[in-house]
Amino acid sequence: MVKLSLDNPIQYFKGVGPRRALSFQNLGILTVEDLLHHFPREWQDRRQTKDLSFPTASGLTVVKGRVLKARLIPAGPRLALYKATLSTGESRVEAVWFKHLSPRFDVFASLKKEAAPGEDIWLVGRGESQLLDTREIKVEEHYPALEEKSLLHVDRLTPIYSLTEGLTQRFLRELVHKALQEAGPSAAEILPRRLLEKRALLAAPQALRAVHFPESQAELEAARERLAYEEFLLLELAWTLKRRQTNALKKSFGYTLRKNLLTPFKERLGFHFTLAQKRVINEIFADMQKPSPMTRLLQGDVGSGKTVVALASLLLAVENGFQGAFMAPTEILAEQHFATIQKFLKGLPVKTALLTSRLKAKEREKILSELSAGKIQILAGTHALLEEDVLFSRLRLAVIDEQHRFGVRQRATLRRKNSLLDLLVMTATPIPRTLALALYGDLDVSTLDEMPPGKTPAETVLAAEGEAFERVRREAALGRQAYVVYPIIEESRRLDLRSAKAEFARLKQDIFPDLKVALLHGAMPSREKNKVMAEFAAGAWQVLAATQVIEVGIDVPNATVMVIQNAERFGLASLHQLRGRIGRGQAPSKCFLVADPKTPEARKRLETMAAVHDGFRIGEEDLKLRGPGEMLGTAQHGELALKVADIFKDSALLARAKQDAEELLAQDPRLQDLSCRSLRERLIALYQRRWDWVDLS
Ligand code: ADP
Ligand code: MG
Repeated sequence: MVKLSLDNPIQYFKGVGPRRALSFQNLGILTVEDLLHHFPREWQDRRQTKDLSFPTASGLTVVKGRVLKARLIPAGPRLALYKATLSTGESRVEAVWFKHLSPRFDVFASLKKEAAPGEDIWLVGRGESQLLDTREIKVEEHYPALEEKSLLHVDRLTPIYSLTEGLTQRFLRELVHKALQEAGPSAAEILPRRLLEKRALLAAPQALRAVHFPESQAELEAARERLAYEEFLLLELAWTLKRRQTNALKKSFGYTLRKNLLTPFKERLGFHFTLAQKRVINEIFADMQKPSPMTRLLQGDVGSGKTVVALASLLLAVENGFQGAFMAPTEILAEQHFATIQKFLKGLPVKTALLTSRLKAKEREKILSELSAGKIQILAGTHALLEEDVLFSRLRLAVIDEQHRFGVRQRATLRRKNSLLDLLVMTATPIPRTLALALYGDLDVSTLDEMPPGKTPAETVLAAEGEAFERVRREAALGRQAYVVYPIIEESRRLDLRSAKAEFARLKQDIFPDLKVALLHGAMPSREKNKVMAEFAAGAWQVLAATQVIEVGIDVPNATVMVIQNAERFGLASLHQLRGRIGRGQAPSKCFLVADPKTPEARKRLETMAAVHDGFRIGEEDLKLRGPGEMLGTAQHGELALKVADIFKDSALLARAKQDAEELLAQDPRLQDLSCRSLRERLIALYQRRWDWVDLS
């Protein structure tokens, strides 16, 4: 028989065929190699149960026995059960299979053969009851004991795969095993031998075998380590190359600190920059003055004062006769940024504008023509600003808010179109530096790790609604204001959640009949939204019933209470952003999480919220709980080719891979050495499409 090779299409594998090939395609598996890289999502401990009173860690009982007798027992019009008594040597076991009857065929046909008296079988199931020495097991899987391949499924650490319709665990395990036998030994070793030796890593074929069918927990760990290291090494190589590529670009312009705008800007602020702001502004200015374009991440907790830092950077550009863009992920946010820009630049000779889809054609045309004529110096808008046909005459700096919704791929596209642009991206979900480098490796990182003075961060508690509303009343009596936040706008039959609209009526009529209550949600026309927000900021409303739209941007120091309904529905980062709307003034503020957590994890998340106030730790927790894919947002889903590696659990490995990647590229900048050839090919294959890049020519 012809042996399989790694690049064979999976379809021609015996037993697969065109139908199953389609199922495999759904899992992204096209070739034998893809199949071998479809790693288990978990490994179930199915080692033989020694003492029947103690199932394995996965709650399973796994026994081998000989069938002594078997019978079929009707259990209603459509259900029957097959019961077999087995001897395992020491004890007896009652095995039970439940099956729905079919009018067309005997659903027990194969069972009657496989579990007939005299047969030796493996059972995987769950223990039901215990009577004397008889144990009843509800069987989930059974395998003939005489067949060697049964040992792929039982009496071991058994791989459990992600499936899709048309595939079963059993089929997949046996197929992977065959693939390993036939093609596994020829699995390419992409890691140079010296790295394997230096880091004492398993060779590729060995690691592949062991990750699917580990002989022991220790072997599984070793396999995982090898594969995770490989993923990290590729990632770090890609990041390093990407940075090198940007650094090779040379700007045709420079900046000088003229201060004819920066100085009056500072004087008008009404506060002094924090030390952190000063440091970060210096970092950004130094970077902008370098010959290669800046690609920098500015991270800082909610309220740490990122906006003024961004504005200072934009003013440096404007001082030098250039234009800047300030972009946000949504139009509401862009509008809010624009309002902030106007507030801080009031009285300065800087022309600003806001470009949104809501503009009338004529207004839009006017802005566009002033922009291309260089009259408008700072333009605010959404992320789409630079993708549309918006022509600047001298755009030099783009500030992008909410970096996590603007992935490496978008950054790459922007870079390709505007190779000489300085780029400052901001995130309000800050994470520790080492993690930031792993996730955003093409960016330099500046961090605001200090909050402006004069603010009292909000205390956060889990509470019942009554207690929270009591506080709202008390604060209102003191002349202060409150937010009540809901997860959804409208009642829905499917979800048992409080909605802003329905609750607005209840708040107004039943709960706070004596207070002035307003409603704010994302589906309102933007003019109305802005009106409500402005009125609330001016103190015309005491209570604002709102959805997550208030997450970013609203700045009302007089608001001292926030009640978050169905708090279990919000992510950690969102909750942190939301509560950042209070505690912006001198008076103590309080945030109430009203929730009904259904799982211990949900409860733990809320308790974390109450206990932890540091945005960096919240970001870290969020990343831990949801994983990088979720946290980075759908735009970046799958951007990091990490299947096995976990940037938390394997952080030590990450550090080693980073060091090795840098050393490797220092010695061999284009990975041209023969020992790096497969590594280079894999690097291109992995990151070329993902990142819209890899130039190793
Ligand atoms: P972020 O965008 O990081 O959440 P902002 O830039 O919106 O924070 O700043 C939060 C608030 O703090 C704003 O009202 C801003 O004017 C104010 N602020 C910024 N820097 C300082 C500072 N150094 N001293 C006092 N207030 C500041
Ligand atoms: Mg902000």
